[in-house]
Amino acid sequence: MAYDFDLYVIGAGSGGVRSARFAAGFGAKVAVAESRYLGGTCVNVGCVPKKLLVYGAHFAEDFEQSAGFGWSLGEADFDWATLIANKDREINRLNGIYRNLLLNSGVTLHEGHARLIDPHQVEVNGQRYTARHILIATGGWPQIPNIPGREHAISSNEAFFLKELPKRILVVGGGYIAVEFAGIFHGLGADTKLLYRGELFLRGFDGAVRKHLQEELTKRGLDLQFNADIERIEKQADGSLKVTLKDSRELATDCVFYATGRRPMLDNLGLENTGVKLDKRGFIEVDEQYQSAEPSILAIGDVIGRVQLTPVALAEGMAVARRLFKPEQYRPVDYNMIPTAVFSLPNIGTVGLTEEQAREAGHKVQIFESRFRPMKLTLTECQERTLMKLVVDAETDKVLGCHMVGPDAGEIVQGLAIALKAGATKRDFDETIGVHPTAAEEFVTMRTPVAG
Ligand code: FAD
Ligand code: NDP
Repeated sequence: MAYDFDLYVIGAGSGGVRSARFAAGFGAKVAVAESRYLGGTCVNVGCVPKKLLVYGAHFAEDFEQSAGFGWSLGEADFDWATLIANKDREINRLNGIYRNLLLNSGVTLHEGHARLIDPHQVEVNGQRYTARHILIATGGWPQIPNIPGREHAISSNEAFFLKELPKRILVVGGGYIAVEFAGIFHGLGADTKLLYRGELFLRGFDGAVRKHLQEELTKRGLDLQFNADIERIEKQADGSLKVTLKDSRELATDCVFYATGRRPMLDNLGLENTGVKLDKRGFIEVDEQYQSAEPSILAIGDVIGRVQLTPVALAEGMAVARRLFKPEQYRPVDYNMIPTAVFSLPNIGTVGLTEEQAREAGHKVQIFESRFRPMKLTLTECQERTLMKLVVDAETDKVLGCHMVGPDAGEIVQGLAIALKAGATKRDFDETIGVHPTAAEEFVTMRTPVAG
């Protein structure tokens, strides 16, 4: 049968755009449908605008610290509306770049909601298109628990477009988004509380990293409330919110921001017209080559719920394009040693196994740790400390994990990830000459294990 397209991609986010562009580059006839915004979550309501807001929040401490270097500034004044308008302008520019990337690589763009009609057919804006392969790359959507007053809460989607900076904000959750946004709002001057239901936030990160970040954020005056969860939210006559916690405490705030995970975006996608199956958590189930239970339909990125990070969606998108249209270049995505950063203030940067994971996997480990006050702060009042940690296999000498909390941790860990991927040993780290004076050089000068 002749199809309209070799590949029909649903969703022009990180994974979908990468797959569409490369498939077209390999000679395939490709279309992509996008219902909301070109570039997807990362460009519009994720990584990019988030990082711009983090940069914005960072100025508060730069101004404070500049005094130690002889600068005296007038009273600093921050205007949220300017930051948001400038951020929107930049995102608009990026939307245009994404459009050009797609069109210049010969991809047909359909702007509208796509719905599956059958395993080889998609409907967009009332038009039906057939395709040999269909790729679902529809991403995720914030998930807010169903508590009374839920309608008064916002998610990251709205946080990027608030008309005003709230005077008081309550951030709920203990994952990436909660920690990053608590830092943004606190840095920009809002009275910020972070509420997390467990003992300590950032479950899954190295224990020392979680504890260190807790101490650093507390030093900065961020109000961290653990073992705390919301029972209900009530709007008051003056527009403020009364929040009642499960332990009966009451808090007054102007904004409640939930960052409690993301569900797959499957709304009105027509999956019932196909044999696609979902896994236990409700994400699309795929095999190691991203094929769903329906042979003509593949899925990648956040909608399969493996690792919800942009570079992972990009790698999966590339793998699909190669597998379908350039099989001789196909390489499976390696999910080991994925580096990641939490853009809290200070940042977390991490790659490889945590100490807990390494021990659980049966490794005999040696732990190296360095805690220090960064040189940049020695002329300032700031008492922030940096943590660097290496998890080493005592038998093979292989470095299993690198973890850092401190300025530029996200930047530093990218290079370390290459070393770990190449199988670097602690001896390789020791024999590497440092770059002086930097914080990063500590990673090659830790000599005495703190624990074995
Ligand atoms: P998406 O980028 O979500 O793209 C899916 C696209 O599909 C969307 O544009 C959507 O409109 C479209 N779509 C959905 N349904 C349909 C339909 N039926 N028809 C047509 N179009 C449809 N990751 C990092 O690596 N670093 C970060 O710093 C980072 N920060 C983040 C901050 C926030 C606040 C959030 C929410 C996420 C962040 N992420 C970050 C995660 C990252 O954004 C995602 O992992 C990534 O965007 C996933 O890409 P994707 O292609 O799977 O989906
Ligand atoms: P996460 O899965 O990272 O964290 C969700 C948090 O919400 C956890 O602390 C979880 O607690 C808590 N939680 C879940 N359900 C409830 C509930 N019903 N009530 C109270 N708390 C609850 O999700 P995020 O929303 O922060 O981010 C989504 C994903 O986006 C991330 O996992 C990450 O992959 C990606 N991302 C990446 C970023 C980066 O690379 N810098 C930045 C932002 C997002 P518990 O631990 O107890 O389960």
